[in-house]
Amino acid sequence: MAEILIERLHKRFGDFVAVHDSSLRLEDGKFVVLLGPSGCGKTTTLRMLAGLEYPSSGSITLDGQDVTYLRPRERDIAMVFQLFALYPHLGVRGNLEFPLRNEGLPRAEIDSRVRDVGAILRIEHLLASRIGSLSGGDRQRVALGRAIVRQPKAFLMDEPLGTLDAEFRELMCVELRKLHDRLRTTTVFVTHDQNEAMALADQIVVMHEGCILQCDDPAGIYHFPNCLFVAGFIGRPPMNTLRVEGAVQPGAESVLLAGSAVPVPRVEATAATALLGVRPEHVRLANPSGTTLAGEVVQVEYFGSHWIAELSTAAGSLKAMVDKALRPRPGERVGIEFERARVLLFDASSGQRLA
Ligand code: ATP
Repeated sequence: MAEILIERLHKRFGDFVAVHDSSLRLEDGKFVVLLGPSGCGKTTTLRMLAGLEYPSSGSITLDGQDVTYLRPRERDIAMVFQLFALYPHLGVRGNLEFPLRNEGLPRAEIDSRVRDVGAILRIEHLLASRIGSLSGGDRQRVALGRAIVRQPKAFLMDEPLGTLDAEFRELMCVELRKLHDRLRTTTVFVTHDQNEAMALADQIVVMHEGCILQCDDPAGIYHFPNCLFVAGFIGRPPMNTLRVEGAVQPGAESVLLAGSAVPVPRVEATAATALLGVRPEHVRLANPSGTTLAGEVVQVEYFGSHWIAELSTAAGSLKAMVDKALRPRPGERVGIEFERARVLLFDASSGQRLA
């Protein structure tokens, strides 16, 4: 078991609060991604897990052991940095052996672990190479190899794919996920890239301004964001938000958008002002009628498999994903419908989800 428990973790640098009273349970064997914009406290959280930074208050428990104030070496966790410092004079094999020699493992055990890691990462043919002769991707594999060869209880990764070009990033994402499926070592991975988070995570933790806003699996984060920030941060184009007329009451099953009653999932809370949230793929274009929300096509973009149409309505503008066979034309007047089960409502002042 390598469950990581973070309780009321708080980190101040002088007067500045980098991580605010955060609690999380990272389940054993899961790939957990800390996701959020630059400066939201991801790296600081990871550094506290690694023991490179100590919290101002709160605690971190690994496998039931309080590790909050243990030094990095004293916790069985391996950190993979973005700019990984491989030792250039040691060669690939030397770099992989280094952490094992430090632990004083017997020669046969070192050889066997290096062989296994070489096979897992498909770098056996590089074991005799110099670091300077490797491509960026191979270096990344060696850096990963050096982390996994120790067989730690958990991996911490700070934007390890950040330096790679887009195509290679995608490839390495697939490699990393395969590696995780094989090793099942609890992993905490920091990124500001939502695609990386979606591709890799069992659990995504969305952070903003030092606070954890939501922790859920990728589908939960995508379909049921608990606030407007998460709704807007995940998904491209982002979730549409439209002004609801009047207050929203518990029990309501429809809301008014520019005079049209729009069916919504049953509302559980009250809000004086609300926004309706709906993703572009859950918007449907229909013939204009007296009952559906009226809109006008402003612009269309072609994506091969579909169109993205920008629409203007009296409740605000929105984007719709439209089947490739239907070509919406700018200036066209349309009726707009939403997939009811996928419609969300947010309190406009607090940003919290109501339904
Ligand atoms: P990025 O993706 O840009 O690395 P991040 O979400 O990882 O962002 P952190 O590096 O955790 O963010 O930083 C959170 C905030 O804490 C930032 O405003 C940063 O300037 C501040 N911060 C981090 N380390 C220190 C430090 N040692 N002293 C003062 N402020 C710091």
